[in-house]
Amino acid sequence: MITLKEALTKNSEELEELKKQMQEKAEESGLNAYIDSNSSGDGIPILIKDNIQVKGWFVTCASKILQGYIAPYEATVIKNLKSNGFSAFGRANMDEFAMGSTTESSYYGKTLNPHNKNHVPGGSSGGSAAAVAGGIAIAALGSDTGGSIRQPASYCGCVGMKPTYGRVSRYGLSAFASSLDQIGPITQNVEDCAILYDAISGYDEKDSTSANKNDDKIYPNLNPNRKLTIAVIDNYISEADKEIQEEFAKTIKKLEDAGHTIVHKNMQNTKYDIATYYIICTAEATTNLARYDGIRYGSREDGTNLSDTFLKSRSEGFGDEVKRRILLGNFVLSSGYYDAYYLKAQKVRHLIQDEFNTIFEDADLILSPVTPSTAPKIGSMHDPLEMYKSDMYTISVNLAGLPAISVPVGKDSNNMPIGLQFISKAFNEQTLFDGALSMENIVNYKS
Ligand code: GLN
Repeated sequence: MITLKEALTKNSEELEELKKQMQEKAEESGLNAYIDSNSSGDGIPILIKDNIQVKGWFVTCASKILQGYIAPYEATVIKNLKSNGFSAFGRANMDEFAMGSTTESSYYGKTLNPHNKNHVPGGSSGGSAAAVAGGIAIAALGSDTGGSIRQPASYCGCVGMKPTYGRVSRYGLSAFASSLDQIGPITQNVEDCAILYDAISGYDEKDSTSANKNDDKIYPNLNPNRKLTIAVIDNYISEADKEIQEEFAKTIKKLEDAGHTIVHKNMQNTKYDIATYYIICTAEATTNLARYDGIRYGSREDGTNLSDTFLKSRSEGFGDEVKRRILLGNFVLSSGYYDAYYLKAQKVRHLIQDEFNTIFEDADLILSPVTPSTAPKIGSMHDPLEMYKSDMYTISVNLAGLPAISVPVGKDSNNMPIGLQFISKAFNEQTLFDGALSMENIVNYKS
């Protein structure tokens, strides 16, 4: 597949031809990465996750409850894409309501990893990552609440970036956990990622959490030759599989050889990341998903009275993982437990943010694994707690609202990709991309 940078030089006829080829290849691939091949306008085709509104397209969050729902308006990211010479092309499969790490919970069936079809592509933006890595999309948009862009990018061997909270408008993104969600790019390489990030980011008055900050373009200023100070969190690494630890150590060495300075740090609060995230995200999800009741939104199953209709519609329409989150979210918000869980989690969230700020007093970037293992086999993540634990390296970034980028650096002995992530200070995407390009240049990853 041509890169996004190469696509910028193609005329509209060539791009139309390319779209046809992409459709054919998507079907041949058997990855189930696309759940539809809608096309909206001309411009360089970008694959869109099924939780971002494209006016006139279905948007279902890969859920049964939203079957047949047509987006009545355009998400700001789609407007931004179109005004920058891109177009929306194709719907990407995902975990239902973006809750999950494998793309196995989709109403449309699971997506497969292009490196080995017995393995999951990760999630929840698994369709986006599998399509980009599998050569059937030039680039894609995903969303990241606790790792859903970076983790599938890492499992599939492509680049995925989560912007600072507030950098990219959430207007038109179906909400999962509103204080954590961000839309971001999934691409074949770091340059393409910067190009797509530039196209979608910027202040939007339609999103009250949108940041009105300097938003100088990243791509024209990309500089992989800056010498950066990179923090490594020593007490963080031992949880990762041996081969990931080895790849991590090798990459640190290469970064040092390239002139970057490595500093060693510890973080005390990382042991609370998973509990804090799963309290906050389920609380917010419960609130956001209350609207899918068969009356306001969602397919209806008629009951004997109103509350029976709510019960039947929600019981029929939501899958198991979504129901689990709604139950957990109601529990942590219920009176009597609110202070012990939700309120405490909000306090711990501040401690996590403070700890990141302290590290960034001495460092430009933090380097960490993206995941403790490479892509697991399909069907192996049946214990929800095991799945939640596998988010250990990605979720604190969302809790702190920071930007991060996952870059492929190598493969394990089963030939499955390994990614590492850089994390930077809030609103310092330029440094993040500069570091990522430097890392991409020195690791020499071959898909
Ligand atoms: N795996 C995490 C979860 O299940 C992250 C999901 C996401 O980022 N959307 O909540």
